[in-house]
Amino acid sequence: MTSQTSSDCLFCKIVAGEIPSDRVAESERSIAFRDISPAAPVHVLVVPRRHEPTVGALAAAAGDDLADVFRLAARVAEQEGVADAHRMIVNTGAGAGQTIFHAHVHVLGGTTFTEGRM
Ligand code: 5GP
Ligand code: ZN
Repeated sequence: MTSQTSSDCLFCKIVAGEIPSDRVAESERSIAFRDISPAAPVHVLVVPRRHEPTVGALAAAAGDDLADVFRLAARVAEQEGVADAHRMIVNTGAGAGQTIFHAHVHVLGGTTFTEGRM
């Protein structure tokens, strides 16, 4: 699915405001909201308004939107007070744990990352 929105996509519905979310930041191209099942004290999802299934597909179809996702993610890290200690994680494919096939970046912080370097 590479159309700009997908009617059966959860994150498209969150972007459209059809499903509520705890929005913490937004830009013209992207939105940021708290993960419903946080894995760290700070766990925010940054999502392009445009529907693409993966970050790679977004990079190919709309590089400016991809850049904006990371720009907003950096702003969120700053806003949440974790600019100097956070991870931006992208899961791609079911085998890597991707469950929502609308491109997104996890911003995780507020914890000690004991599992070390990736
Ligand atoms: P993925 O596993 O695809 O990288 O990440 C999807 C994330 O979306 C998961 O961390 C999951 O907790 C989160 N999530 C799933 N459904 C909802 C929802 O309805 N609202 C919010 N805010 N997050 C959700
Ligand atoms: Zn979508």
